[in-house]
Amino acid sequence: MTETTRRELLGWLAGLGVAGLLAPGRAEASTGVTALRGVTLVDSSGTRPDTTVVLADNRVLAVGSRDLPLPRGSTCLDLAGKFVVPGLWDMHVHGAYLDRITLPLCLVNGVTGIREMWGFPPIYELRERIERGEVFGPRLVVGSTIIDGPGSTLPGALVVATPDEGRQAVRDAKAQGADFVKVYSYLDRPTLAAIADECARQAITFAGHCSNHVALGDASDLGQRTFEHMYGLPLATSSRETQLRQAIADLPFDPANSFAWFKQVLEFERQATLSHSRSKAVHLAKRLRRNGSALCPTMVAMRVYASPADRFANDPRLKYMPAFYRDYWRDGLTQWVPVTPQEIRQQADFFRRRQDQVAEMHELGVEVLLGTDAGNPYSFSGFSVHDELELLVEAGLSTTAALKAGTRGAVIKPGAEANLVVLDGNPIRDIRNTQRIHTVLTRGRVLGPAERQRMLADVEKAAQEPFPAAVQTCC
Ligand SMILES: [Zn+2]
Ligand SMILES: [Zn+2]
Repeated sequence: MTETTRRELLGWLAGLGVAGLLAPGRAEASTGVTALRGVTLVDSSGTRPDTTVVLADNRVLAVGSRDLPLPRGSTCLDLAGKFVVPGLWDMHVHGAYLDRITLPLCLVNGVTGIREMWGFPPIYELRERIERGEVFGPRLVVGSTIIDGPGSTLPGALVVATPDEGRQAVRDAKAQGADFVKVYSYLDRPTLAAIADECARQAITFAGHCSNHVALGDASDLGQRTFEHMYGLPLATSSRETQLRQAIADLPFDPANSFAWFKQVLEFERQATLSHSRSKAVHLAKRLRRNGSALCPTMVAMRVYASPADRFANDPRLKYMPAFYRDYWRDGLTQWVPVTPQEIRQQADFFRRRQDQVAEMHELGVEVLLGTDAGNPYSFSGFSVHDELELLVEAGLSTTAALKAGTRGAVIKPGAEANLVVLDGNPIRDIRNTQRIHTVLTRGRVLGPAERQRMLADVEKAAQEPFPAAVQTCC
């Protein structure tokens, strides 16, 4: 690898009039400088053809014209005709602890940041090891353990039954090293309010499912930062909300079969989409905007639950998944998915209506995040980010808006982290072009086509090795 001394680099930057972007270091020390020559940049600021980007130390140093002079010793990649987008973020994943599977699958797919929705201490440790450079992986933002109320359908969730227990769970999450608190479907309003208040005291955010016991707008007013899987949105925008909420309140609850209750609530949500109210949507959007709440619809995962069991069962990407995942995906789906032709039609219609609601919220100015729920059936680390981009566009977002969601609005500019994805086609013309990845640049490394193939082959091999018991694989 060629190198450039920092003294040379500082002189070159001064010549561009942009000194001061380098971290302090000895002038005689050397650093690897890489230039991407002649590319078209596509980011949240627009499209810039015939551009050269210069990177070092995982920072963008300069963005200039095609003929930008380069510092001596830099590596120049001639990428004329290619498109460069910021690294992608998956804002809803599981399974970061499967570090030899999840992390490389993200990186080869251009995913340089992930939000892990079920955290525990080994993942906090993994987050630090990645940042120290001991493990090669995307940036991790890691939630607390899943905090739920009595009746939780989720084995392994931390169940809190009172506001005081909720507060204690927040303090514990903070002490353990969580980046945010993950809340779930069965929290009652007083407990969610206590969690919200304790989060404010501890300067930590909370995010997760819209509780079945709290209206989405009310949870947003309490400060819930993100809402996953479109749960709660159909009810909150239905002209029959009052009746349907009463029906939920009247539902008999059998603690031995809480899933049946959960599924019936989903059925009421489906019915709610048949009485959608535009004016309620406008009012809800205003609250979400004011509170800074975002929607993370995870359509790619919800599409699986809305489809017949075999629709995704032969996905060629299954070879990258350990056996326990493949078994769990096959068996875990059976209680969710539609079976009869009528159920299949109904669920397809429900899915389409929820997509419309996400597009409407986006049109009304609510932030939409890209998330996959990777780890849940047929949602693949890394790969499914591109499926979700397609689904966001199918829902009605522009390709520009979908890409903005997928990159969290990043702009490629001097000083920005150099997480970049080089594509063979223009994603604004066709969002599927994000799948035509040529090279990924992150953490100062250049993952060209051969290196990405090698990483995929390693994942395929790792997936065949025995893994410890399947733990915490869902939701
Ligand atoms: Zn979930
Ligand atoms: Zn999830």
